[in-house]
Amino acid sequence: MERPLLLLDVDGPLNPFRAGRAPLPRGYLPHTIHGLRVLLDPAHGPALAALPFDLVWATTWEHDANTEIAPRVGLPALPVITWPVGADTAPGLCFKTPTVAAYTAGRPFAWVDDEVTDTDRAWLAARRDTPFLLHRVSARRGLRPTDLATLATWAATHAPDAAPIGD
Ligand SMILES: [Mg+2]
Repeated sequence: MERPLLLLDVDGPLNPFRAGRAPLPRGYLPHTIHGLRVLLDPAHGPALAALPFDLVWATTWEHDANTEIAPRVGLPALPVITWPVGADTAPGLCFKTPTVAAYTAGRPFAWVDDEVTDTDRAWLAARRDTPFLLHRVSARRGLRPTDLATLATWAATHAPDAAPIGD
């Protein structure tokens, strides 16, 4: 059986773009990519890859995430969700959410993003019958050990190879 998907945003969770300029948040290295200052932590890739998920990019970097971000955080090339241009979404709904729903149809998934809200959660809950976790990460702090622990706990419940409780 397939593992759950882990949808990864870049700006916010992996690049805490709202962090102050000095001091650099611990573990992060500054890069200039496409003229933008990007902070990335090379420990994030191994930590994410160790979780029992199939990782997918869910970022406006789209395919550039594989060339520009993956090598700098220690991830292999991953599948990429691409976003429709000019698509209208309901008020308050993240523009990514309908595309995420279509991409993840039939599979459990966790989604790490700095912009998801209860509106997205409710919209998805009304439209699907497989488990999902929307996990919001602050763009000021980026992905932290506590976030990884939340993902690991959720996966332990929803991953098909998770040991049954009481086993
Ligand atoms: Mg973001």
